[in-house]
Amino acid sequence: MSVTSEAAYAGLVCPACGASALQVSGQERVACGACGEVYGAVAGVPVLVRNWQELSAELEEARRVNPLWYEAVQPPEEASPWRHHLKKRRLYVESALARHLGAGRKAARLLDLGCGDGNHLLWLARYGEHVYGSDYNAVRLARAKALNADATLFVADILDYPAEDSAFDVIFFNHVIEHIPDDIAALRAIRRILRPGGLLVLGTPNEGAWWWQWAYRRDAAAIMSTDHCHFYTGQTIGLKMIKAGFKVLDTHHLGWGPPDWALDGRIRKYKMVDDLFSLAGRALLPRQASSLYLLATKEGVSA
Ligand SMILES: [Zn+2]
Repeated sequence: MSVTSEAAYAGLVCPACGASALQVSGQERVACGACGEVYGAVAGVPVLVRNWQELSAELEEARRVNPLWYEAVQPPEEASPWRHHLKKRRLYVESALARHLGAGRKAARLLDLGCGDGNHLLWLARYGEHVYGSDYNAVRLARAKALNADATLFVADILDYPAEDSAFDVIFFNHVIEHIPDDIAALRAIRRILRPGGLLVLGTPNEGAWWWQWAYRRDAAAIMSTDHCHFYTGQTIGLKMIKAGFKVLDTHHLGWGPPDWALDGRIRKYKMVDDLFSLAGRALLPRQASSLYLLATKEGVSA
């Protein structure tokens, strides 16, 4: 469903003054009707951060240290060597959304927080009347915009998030938390913007599991080059979510592979191999999966 320009910023607030008064102001600009602050855009995507110069300097540094991670195109599901695994992940999330919302129903506002190139928004759009996506990486948001013309996309800092309290009914937070040094602060920020009774779907690698710690020990280059700063298990991320005030509804392990990153990518592109690893892994090593999905809610009175 397309959203009119007046409604596009519903639920979002001005980073400078906190007022729910953002409106389109000429080409590629968003202005605050309360304090008058004007926010520019990068490649047509509004930059809703308090101090863009500071953030862009940090981004330049990240790009310099690891340009591939910053700029490399995130392949769509069907083009990835892990396409069968990614499909299993998507089907799990889709079934969780359908269960939470009720068959055929949509969330009023759905946010993909850390949407990257926007590949997930393509199917998440089926579960939201109004779909939002944010990232701090404007290079990726430009690609997300090309794929998702109807979504409200913006650059945002998760730790200073430009949204009202309880703004979103569903938040999809996929493979982001392991990159954020202050993960508890990020989870608290998400809790603030989730509606009571709403659903958080959090995905992260299960890299704290001994199986994947073993994979890292066998490949010194992988541990040197990873940009992850947390290596969770279902238990460690679940405890952090509880500490941040969430009620965890489900912890799901998903995807199994050989403890060797290069080999994993080479052989799991075959559906039969991915299916066999899944069958054997679920039966023999249920907590050594490669991916974790946690479903959580915020308790309180639903609006
Ligand atoms: Zn303002």
